[in-house]
Amino acid sequence: MAGLYLHIPFCKQACTYCDFHFSTSMQTREELVTALITEIKLQADYLPSKTLDTIYFGGGTPSLLSVDELERIFDQIQQYFTINKGAEITLEANPDDLTLAYLRKLRHTNVNRLSIGIQSFREQDLKMMNRAHTAKQAERVVPEAADTGFENLSIDLIYGIPDLKMDGWKKNLDKALALPVNHLSCYCLTVEPRTALAWQVEKGISKAVDDDEAANQYEWLIEKTEVAGIPWYEISNFGKPGFESQHNSNYWKGIPYLGIGPSAHSYNGKNRQWNIRNNPLYIKSINDKKIPFEEEFLTEAQRFNETVLTSLRTRNGLSKEAILKVATEDSWKKIKSQAEIKIANGLIIEKENSLQLTVKGLLLADAIASEFFLL
Ligand code: SF4
Repeated sequence: MAGLYLHIPFCKQACTYCDFHFSTSMQTREELVTALITEIKLQADYLPSKTLDTIYFGGGTPSLLSVDELERIFDQIQQYFTINKGAEITLEANPDDLTLAYLRKLRHTNVNRLSIGIQSFREQDLKMMNRAHTAKQAERVVPEAADTGFENLSIDLIYGIPDLKMDGWKKNLDKALALPVNHLSCYCLTVEPRTALAWQVEKGISKAVDDDEAANQYEWLIEKTEVAGIPWYEISNFGKPGFESQHNSNYWKGIPYLGIGPSAHSYNGKNRQWNIRNNPLYIKSINDKKIPFEEEFLTEAQRFNETVLTSLRTRNGLSKEAILKVATEDSWKKIKSQAEIKIANGLIIEKENSLQLTVKGLLLADAIASEFFLL
């Protein structure tokens, strides 16, 4: 099994909270698409398998690509890889790009899943976060995508926005759950360093996120999605049975993936590498037939810690089987004994050789995981 990730590093405008790699200048677009196509060829031998089970266009804003550009990229993928029948092929898209004309053309490409960045149905939140779309576009886009024939639809929502109180969040969630979606990704607004939002909070222009309010909104999210039949399967991801994101689930299972494009990460089971976060330097290097990357070989402790962190964030939890892939039976016994106090405190439950976080535990997931880490 293997996955392919393509990073499309352009956005119409910069969302205030975003720390992904992107440029709002489209001047290098043509050269960058050509460089992505070249990199697919240069990296064709990176993965242990030539068969792809998932392809994911992320960004940035992949829906800024024309259908012709997407087709050129698919042609190249098919030159060097076999796309498995039934492969999950996702395009991240913003509501303002998904016009009916674009959706109809997109339907004839290999893309079979859309992950739509709605974030909020409230105009004031979209403005505060400097999103490029309007509340009206957020409301119309999912029904139109479904009418065009897309059956596998996911939307992103953000909770913990300073002025989005519980009442606003409940309304946002009700709107989302009334749509023909079978997957949600919901993230808490985070003030990342060196973002416009961090600057605004520092200057008092924006309020900081209220942690208690955000925790209440998260608990409501877990409860409401469970009742709606789109239960959580990872701390930030919710899917109807059979519609969990295969691409992201494979990351958490440690399945190899190749990342193409500036800032894209790759993992082949032994090493992890990541491309430079700079569009002109990326293009120049690829034109010189050199992949501009840094790499690291994971130590045993890093592999162990990653297994603990990623597994505990999933509903299946941290299993003995997963630990035995990176450590010994004694390590599993040690984890179980460390977990006893957390089980007593209602943060973890034990089920058939696995430790799973409760809803109370999910709110402290990273802190709990770090207590099991090897140093
Ligand atoms: S559209 Fe996505 S990648 Fe682009 S600035 Fe906004 S959050 Fe970041």
